[in-house]
Amino acid sequence: LSRSPSLIARLLRHAHEVPDRPALRYQGSETSWEEHRDAVLRTAHDLRDRGVGPGDRVALLLTNRPEFLTVTHAAAAIGAITVPVNFRLTAEEVSFILGHSSPRVLVTEPQTRSLAENAVAHRPDSTGPMVPAAASAAAPALLDCTDDWLTRVTADGTPLAVDEIHIPHDDDDYAILYTSGTTGRPKGAVLSHLNLYNGGVQNGLRWGADDTSTVMLAPPLFHVGSFMSSHAALAAGAASLVIPSAGFDAATTLTTMQDEDVTSAFMVPQQWHLLCDEIERRGDSGLSLTHASWGGAPATEKLLRRMASCMPKAQITAVFGQTETCGTAVSLAFEDSLTKIGSVGRPTAETWIRIVDPSMNDVGVNEVGEIVYRGTCVMNRYWDDPAATAEAFAGGWFHSGDLVRRDADGFLYVVDRIKDMIISGGENIYCAEIENALSWHPDLAEVTVVGRPDDVWGEVPVACIVPVEGAAAPTLADVRGFLNDRLARYKHPKDLVVLDQLPRTGMGKIHKTVLRGSV
Ligand code: ATP
Repeated sequence: LSRSPSLIARLLRHAHEVPDRPALRYQGSETSWEEHRDAVLRTAHDLRDRGVGPGDRVALLLTNRPEFLTVTHAAAAIGAITVPVNFRLTAEEVSFILGHSSPRVLVTEPQTRSLAENAVAHRPDSTGPMVPAAASAAAPALLDCTDDWLTRVTADGTPLAVDEIHIPHDDDDYAILYTSGTTGRPKGAVLSHLNLYNGGVQNGLRWGADDTSTVMLAPPLFHVGSFMSSHAALAAGAASLVIPSAGFDAATTLTTMQDEDVTSAFMVPQQWHLLCDEIERRGDSGLSLTHASWGGAPATEKLLRRMASCMPKAQITAVFGQTETCGTAVSLAFEDSLTKIGSVGRPTAETWIRIVDPSMNDVGVNEVGEIVYRGTCVMNRYWDDPAATAEAFAGGWFHSGDLVRRDADGFLYVVDRIKDMIISGGENIYCAEIENALSWHPDLAEVTVVGRPDDVWGEVPVACIVPVEGAAAPTLADVRGFLNDRLARYKHPKDLVVLDQLPRTGMGKIHKTVLRGSV
């Protein structure tokens, strides 16, 4: 076990070396590494008794709660594959994922039970649109992790013997994470044991985490950001502080970070933005935070400067990547964060990159191209989707769909997602560039830019804005005037849409597809 990419081996080691240190923390209660090991091995034995074997899927329809991690680790211990499902999806979307991944069991809680039941009742045909499936396909067994099943099993079930623990090979499947579908029908990124093991160890090292650290898991655990962070904590022996999914509340989060002495946290820029508001409102934040990492979506330079001034003791690091690269593929170290502001950094040790044009030729320094990946952080394939897999790996590299440029020192700058780029009158316009410039407008709380089809120009940029509370919304002329000496005129928005709030995905990212359809 110790010679394989086994995170369960790490768990056993922490239980041996630091048995009383916390593995999981949740709403004031703590589970030690020794208790967590026992719970995981008992749950693993129970799952095996229920017929779950190596390669079988175990789906989780759970909000953020410690049982999410107990079951994930138990599945890994018997070689089964965890399928975390976004609990904010509709029954039809969940049924698509269940039909596509065909799990043997589906773990629920009271809050997700009826969603699970509706989804199972409407199981779809995995190859077609999201419609009910043939009734013959076996439905997963539903297990509620809050009723006496898991309580009984973890209290006095039979533990799996250590020599029965699945010894993983590098390419064995660990989890299937469905991408949240901002680009269409969900695809299941299959992450291997090696992906999670290497990513976990490397992220833990980057944070300098050990058994005295507390890693806060505020974003949903089904998303690669928190999923990866929890495995970094597992690799390092740090405590995972699971924050319930009650919608992000900056005041509660800040209080928790102070009370629980959180040392590392990954959040999306929107969450850091709200947290900075709260820190400024309270004055001194008194945070123990040593590592604040942001990623998952672009951050403006304004936000990065605010984070540095609101959290002077924290090392602020950028991470860039996606579900298919098991989260972090590129990272900006703290040492470089002030000289290379706006950059997402350089590829991590486990990542190889190229920046290419559509014919797969490498582009030059400071030229914009698509970033493509290879390495131990890159997924094996999409689950049961050879066509999508072949397309994504065309030319032998994983195509990210992200446009970046690399400066002469090798630092990467995110330009835009290919699908978000606007081509107007033959010119490429990068939404992120306009968003960055407008983020400095004093009357705008939030802004995002999307393309709108146009008979003359092909497509034109439209700014969707949320005014600062109490401020009058600026007019299109105001906004264009503000951009006059900041951006070339052809990049100026041609229209303005004023909103109370921007539509966001479950992860807190701006849902540009929704906006594109409505502006
Ligand atoms: P989809 O379903 O379309 O893949 P998603 O947003 O749910 O959408 P994720 O894997 O969660 O999929 O997101 C990855 C994408 O988020 C990256 O491809 C990139 O465009 C963006 N992203 C991630 N980190 C950063 C960052 N630090 N700066 C800018 N953009 C980022």
